[in-house]
Amino acid sequence: HQGALIATYADSANRKMADHLRKFETMFTLTPQRMRMIVEAFKDALETGLAKRDQVVPMIPTYVFGWPTGKETGNYLAVDLGGTNLRVCLVTLQGDGKFEITQSKYRLSEEQKQDDGQLLFDFCAECLKAFIDLNIESGVIENDAVLPLGFTFSYPCSQDRIDHGELIRWTKGFGAPNTEGHDVVAMFRKSLEKLSVPAEVVALTCDTTGTLIASHYVNPKTKIACIFGTGCNAAYMEYVRDIPKLTALNIDPNAEIAINCEWGAFDSFEHEHLPRTKYDLVIDETSNKPGEQAFEKLISGRYLGEILRLIICELIDEGVIFLGQNTYKVEIPYSFDTAFLSLMESDPTDELLMIIGIFTHFFALETTLAERQFFRALAKLVGRRAARLSACGIAAIVSKMGYLEEGCAVGADGSLYNKYPGFADRVHEGLQDIFGEKGRNIVTYHAEDGSGIGSAIVAAMTKIRKEANLY
Ligand code: BGC
Ligand code: MG
Repeated sequence: HQGALIATYADSANRKMADHLRKFETMFTLTPQRMRMIVEAFKDALETGLAKRDQVVPMIPTYVFGWPTGKETGNYLAVDLGGTNLRVCLVTLQGDGKFEITQSKYRLSEEQKQDDGQLLFDFCAECLKAFIDLNIESGVIENDAVLPLGFTFSYPCSQDRIDHGELIRWTKGFGAPNTEGHDVVAMFRKSLEKLSVPAEVVALTCDTTGTLIASHYVNPKTKIACIFGTGCNAAYMEYVRDIPKLTALNIDPNAEIAINCEWGAFDSFEHEHLPRTKYDLVIDETSNKPGEQAFEKLISGRYLGEILRLIICELIDEGVIFLGQNTYKVEIPYSFDTAFLSLMESDPTDELLMIIGIFTHFFALETTLAERQFFRALAKLVGRRAARLSACGIAAIVSKMGYLEEGCAVGADGSLYNKYPGFADRVHEGLQDIFGEKGRNIVTYHAEDGSGIGSAIVAAMTKIRKEANLY
């Protein structure tokens, strides 16, 4: 008798899940038509950013002029302050298109992201100093050398030269006070001086700009670079003559300059174009930057796990899942890592054993097979939407620049691109939904390390320009 009762209960729970799934499918699915509308609005935003200063999508001229030749040589330090880690690198460019790299990585704590900004740069300087000392000991760096350094700082900075950048706003959950509105190169130099670190900051780059340069260095068909990681963004090369906001400056109109789009900001504040669900609204409203990075919040690794977690919490409240279990762990904001979505989607077992593992190990929750199938389906919806929106961003640049006919390679990097199963395929499928067959001309590939190698190449390019008195 009781068995029958449980079966009835399970039946009705499963039916509820099926109903919910249909609802979520509608909520998270982007039709090709909708995608094309987003692309049009995106193109307008890119144009506006090039035309005027201080726009939502800032389209930052990076003062990286043109492509590398592959003949760049020398030893460079690179410091990469990303959304999750700090990395210090020593890069040797050999001048034949080849390079060597040694590096150390440090995890950033949540406290560091919110502490006073100068402390963050002090930490960068300390790690760099330890790294240099280690390499002097092992004889890799000469004792009295002051090495040129490329600083990869992956947050929007407005630049008016290569070794300067005022932080427009923190992204990716950073909130360190006394940094927005300040020149981050000056702040970093201050920390380097304080600790007498033998390094000279010669160039400031964003990870996307570095990725663009490093990818082109190894694959000259590359015209666009994207990052799909903790944050998301893109960079490409533009003629100075096509950047109206630069016309007042005395720059050769026929020069090419890399543009850091900062496209994560697309549709911020007004929220006119992107399909936001109620979960996306919660993420935005509870973030430290409500209204900002609207595009990024639908796509990047910092948020995808949280979107799924919010759905799960709603279904717990509605009594659809985890009845009678203690759900406090999964109710902790940001406790559901985006890596779990990747794992859930790639679980190869019939019983979905990896998903069992995630829920028991991290959340002390038991799951039925039907629940696990349901969660996997949800992960797919969230991951697929992110990839298709990413395709919209790429399509906007392709279409604005007229790259569709001749085709182009897109160097892409970041945890989502590299580790999320099927992400790249879904981006490509999205490009074909937007452009039809010709969408096949646009191909993304795993980029060269832009924040390390790319930063060093930019430092080398800067040295060459300085020697030619071009700066
Ligand atoms: C930042 C960009 C960066 C991207 C990827 C965004 O949050 O604003 O500067 O390129 O994340 O790291
Ligand atoms: Mg990074």
